[in-house]
Amino acid sequence: MLAASEVHGGFPKRVHEEVRRFLGCGDLRRGFTLAKCEACKEATLIAFSCKARGWCPSCGARRAHEAEAHLMEVLPKAGFRQWTLSLPFALRWPVVKAPKLLRVVERCLTRAIFRWLRRQARRLGYGGKAQGGAVCFVQWFSSTLALQPHLHLLVPEGVWSGGVFLELPRPTQQELEAVLARMLAQAKRTFEALGTPWPEDAFEALQLQGAQERLNLNDEPTFGGHRDRLVAVGEGFSLHAGTAVHQNDRAGLARLCRYGARGPIAESRLSRRDDGKYAYETKKGVTLVLSSDQLVRRLLWLIPPARFHLTSFHGVLSSHAAARASVMPTPSSPAQPPAPPVTGGPAAKPKRPRLDWAALHARTWGVDVWQCPCGGKRKVMAIVTSRRTAEEILRNLGLLPAPPPRPVALANAPPQLDLPMT
Ligand SMILES: [Zn+2]
Ligand SMILES: [Zn+2]
Repeated sequence: MLAASEVHGGFPKRVHEEVRRFLGCGDLRRGFTLAKCEACKEATLIAFSCKARGWCPSCGARRAHEAEAHLMEVLPKAGFRQWTLSLPFALRWPVVKAPKLLRVVERCLTRAIFRWLRRQARRLGYGGKAQGGAVCFVQWFSSTLALQPHLHLLVPEGVWSGGVFLELPRPTQQELEAVLARMLAQAKRTFEALGTPWPEDAFEALQLQGAQERLNLNDEPTFGGHRDRLVAVGEGFSLHAGTAVHQNDRAGLARLCRYGARGPIAESRLSRRDDGKYAYETKKGVTLVLSSDQLVRRLLWLIPPARFHLTSFHGVLSSHAAARASVMPTPSSPAQPPAPPVTGGPAAKPKRPRLDWAALHARTWGVDVWQCPCGGKRKVMAIVTSRRTAEEILRNLGLLPAPPPRPVALANAPPQLDLPMT
């Protein structure tokens, strides 16, 4: 696959890098943390994850939990509404080609929502400067693994004025339509400036294909909390605002955060069939049956753009808003364990995580890696980051040359498939 279509000049380096990282996710030969139980003295190796931004299901699940944990610490106590904007078919590829355009859409939408909120506040007699806020999640995919950039916004159902939160009523159908119309009017010039850009390399050609996938819309899952049908459509856009959570429903808000920040693939939905094909269960109970070629193709086109934040904050929740400090609680910083010795060269400066890694692991899979089955506590002895050292240790432990366990069914699909680009 990666060698495919030299006509378009091959795939860019970052695509190769993404695949290389994914194939090494959880592979002990690429390094590990060596931990030892303080009670029974048994040693355990914990593999590193790839942290790739694309489809890696285990890293995606961990990232969603990390985002959820962070957001639940900083989001103010308020009722939240989820606003979901899907783009017209004709705009998907232009947005994939120039992701900044999606930022324009995002800005126009948040401004239209904030404007509506301020007007409502004034109508209800609230004076003073009122400000709304929003968290925006960009999702690059649909639940059928098509390339379908769209936005999920979590918007507090009210405004802040002088540090006080003023709760406001839910949007009516008419108001929702007015918000969409305002967004479209504001974004129009940007859309008009869009020609139909041409794919410049094999990856873009593949993305173009991904953006043209036909699919079942209305496949958004339902959540607890309040949900009703509140949809506006215009010029091929559709804006859903039917899902909301009450201010006391923090669990519901956490679910919405995790949903917004999730990756494209849930490992539990993917299985390998007896005939060698893959089955992917989509949300509405529809099963996609894919050959390994087709699956790899879909995974590749879902890699999000480089240097593009998938989560962003707006209005009073944005990092440069003066009122932010009075609105968002300060996250507590978790106590970090003392730094363990690091072997294997200079590449070993891990970024300080928001949640400590073991806590995140426990949250995602319900397994505490620092807890030994004997009941004792595990302690980090060393972090091995060099492949050579890692392999040497594994050989000494008799763990090589046995192949390492692979985290996903894709293990059987070779990384280099020679596919025709049809
Ligand atoms: Zn033990
Ligand atoms: Zn991974």
